[in-house]
Amino acid sequence: MCLSELKTGERGVIVKVIGHSGFRKRIIEMGFIKGKTVEVLLNAPLNDPIKYKILGYEISLRHREAEMIEIISEQEAKEQVLQPGIYYGALAGEYTHFNDEYLRRIALGKRRTINVALIGNPNCGKTSLFNLASGAHEHVGNYSGVTVSAKEGHFDFEGYRFKIVDLPGTYSLSAYTPEEIYVRRHIIEQTPDIIINVVDSSNLERNLFLTTQLIDMDIRMVVALNMYDELEESGNTLDHYLLGKLLGVPMIPTVCKKSKGIGDLFHIIINLYEGADYVDEQGIINPEVAKEIQDWHHKHVDESNHGEHIEDYTREYKLHHAIYRHIHINHGPDLERAIDEVKEEISLNDFIRYKYSTRYLAIKLLENDEEVERWIGELPNVESIIKKRDKAIKRIADTLKEDSESAITNAKYGFICGALKEAFVDNYLEQRTVTKSIDAFVTHRLLGFPIFFLFMFLMFECTFIFGEYPMAGIEWLVNAFGSWVNDTMSAGPLKDLLIDGIVGGVGGVIVFLPNIMILYFFISIMEDSGYMARAAFIMDKVMHKMGLHGKSFIPLLMGFGCNVPAIMASRTIENHKSRLITMLVNPLMSCSARLPIYLLLVGAFFPKNGSFILLIIYATGILLAILMARLFSKILVKGDDIPFVMELPPYRMPTAKAIFRHTWEKGVQYLRKMGGIIMLASVIIWFLGYYPNHNTYETVTEQQENSYIGRVGKAIEPALAPLGFDWKLDIGLLTGMGAKELVVSSLGVLYANDAEANTTSLAERMPITPLVAFCYMLFSLIYFPCIASFAAIKHESGSWKWAAFTAIYTTVLAWMVSFAVYQIGSLFV
Ligand code: GDP
Ligand code: MG
Repeated sequence: MCLSELKTGERGVIVKVIGHSGFRKRIIEMGFIKGKTVEVLLNAPLNDPIKYKILGYEISLRHREAEMIEIISEQEAKEQVLQPGIYYGALAGEYTHFNDEYLRRIALGKRRTINVALIGNPNCGKTSLFNLASGAHEHVGNYSGVTVSAKEGHFDFEGYRFKIVDLPGTYSLSAYTPEEIYVRRHIIEQTPDIIINVVDSSNLERNLFLTTQLIDMDIRMVVALNMYDELEESGNTLDHYLLGKLLGVPMIPTVCKKSKGIGDLFHIIINLYEGADYVDEQGIINPEVAKEIQDWHHKHVDESNHGEHIEDYTREYKLHHAIYRHIHINHGPDLERAIDEVKEEISLNDFIRYKYSTRYLAIKLLENDEEVERWIGELPNVESIIKKRDKAIKRIADTLKEDSESAITNAKYGFICGALKEAFVDNYLEQRTVTKSIDAFVTHRLLGFPIFFLFMFLMFECTFIFGEYPMAGIEWLVNAFGSWVNDTMSAGPLKDLLIDGIVGGVGGVIVFLPNIMILYFFISIMEDSGYMARAAFIMDKVMHKMGLHGKSFIPLLMGFGCNVPAIMASRTIENHKSRLITMLVNPLMSCSARLPIYLLLVGAFFPKNGSFILLIIYATGILLAILMARLFSKILVKGDDIPFVMELPPYRMPTAKAIFRHTWEKGVQYLRKMGGIIMLASVIIWFLGYYPNHNTYETVTEQQENSYIGRVGKAIEPALAPLGFDWKLDIGLLTGMGAKELVVSSLGVLYANDAEANTTSLAERMPITPLVAFCYMLFSLIYFPCIASFAAIKHESGSWKWAAFTAIYTTVLAWMVSFAVYQIGSLFV
């Protein structure tokens, strides 16, 4: 609980003080130190400040200050005895009365939980670090937008419990993208004890930009210099101690791929957590605290495992303030003056200082940050703050000849550049030339596109060719199972349900599992190696022609896997207009659930040129997406295009482990769908097709036509007849609205009732022409995506309007395209 919750006369022991360092320092200087007992002298409702007694002194704190102090009350300590072992390190049961020493020990035991948050650019290895530390399985993708929400986990290390949060990747902490706002709010509202700023060491300049913003916020943090292996391989050298000293932040080299440096990282975090607040001006640590740290070290740390860390408080002879200190990024005299002026005006409000560093607020105001402006809006002197700010901005524009926002950005890069000049030696060695020479080809103005399409073609060809063998095996198994059931069970509805409903429906879809795994295997390789980012890069120009942005390409490409995460990934696009259009056209990207439909029909009707037909289908989807995006950006969605930098991270050899894990995870997801929605739907479709009056008809066809589903199919048949579809095909489409795989499984059920069902494949039982099959594939590609995508669009765009719009426009478009192809095609064949 927090100190403000204690009532008059109650006592508690301090566990920790949260919030930004400036605030914490002040509170700790007042005597609110871990393990000390506080007594409430007067805490009446609506009474601010509250009066406390600590270390024999009387001190008043404001409510908002007391909220930032975590304590354990006597009451809680008593409950603790009833539930022994809740707090790590507590000595439940040993004491019978609650003397101060007992409370203190429980408080210190509770203190042994450290909340950390991972913050860093996309692709710097946050999720890898998270997985390593917490042991959780997580998707690790090589582009922004994979981690769309925070993942939490925990683990125990050297006598502490770490609660760790993997936050979405961001390049900066401005209020432009949902991720950035999310990360900022997490820092302010969840107040993690320590931030781990994960930095890609092979791209320091860019990554440290975020670090400088975190420094502005004045929060306790360490930097994990991840991908240190790449830095070393590149032949460049970094003095990370020096860089740490320059920035006032401990920097620990890590290689998440080889789990190197992780122990050191968390070891230093414990030091920072337990020590950094208790040093005096000279950087000498409070002797009582120092003793505790040393005790911890002796007890929990295997000395042989750790090298010499100058950040380590257990080595008393070091001057620690050389590392842990709060620096101000120097923005140059003009900006600093402006920052000071605005800060001074903000600081008149005592209470805002508890939560935010006022310097940070001042900098953000000068950057015209809308969210911070809203916070400031609550202050009584908001008008004079804004007036000061506007004046300062105007002066900066006059003297520096640039707007204050870019002036601040440039100053930060100047600072980083200077720091790197001292600590970093760029040897211009091969690593970058490898990336450069590959890039010369794959991002070439002319060669880039054919190479891209070649990769795509190879991907589909492999999906097709390599998928065939395991597919035949699974097919054989499904058939064998079907005949076995056929031979062993006595006739009746239950047997029919098993064979026609479940084996026919689920079996029809499960055979495509190998193909889907292969497709995901390729997508994972492209993501993890960094080629995906190149694909986005070469597409940037094309995307702009569509009224989109190169960044939209990744969500669109992800759509080939599944439209749902793809639609969610469009969050990373800053520009509202591009984001919305990307979502709207995403369903035209043919997701893997549609693949079984194509594979079924292509295999049966176009056995010779399967890959080619497949490529045409996918290309049609892309082409339509381009056309629609252009159309929408012209007439539907208003707004301007904003230019944006395209990232080109260096190529990485994807690890076999990561690739197989991603592929496997997708496979499992697919199988789950089989066991769940597809199984259920197959049974329902079978039921609707079996009843009513199953046994009263002469022929199977007659029976089917009179079943429930036959009636529905018949009812919509006229609408789809101009496309060449019969009512069975129509039903397939209807069921596909739930999930596209259901198209195949319901066709499986509908065409299963023939006599020779067990001897011929489904495709052979479908009495349609290749042209109809082709139109059917087109229709399946384009029409209503699926319930899940529909919901995703609603969620991401924030309104039903756009979801409904997508549902309608795709279905109308599907009809028009299939109609045109069928009618024109009929003239030739
Ligand atoms: P996130 O976007 O920050 O969560 O980054 P990820 O954890 O998804 O990592 C992106 C890619 O970098 C993955 O392909 C990882 O395998 C790779 N990676 C992570 N850590 C390291 C490292 O220390 N060295 C190298 N060479 N690669 C790494
Ligand atoms: Mg991640």
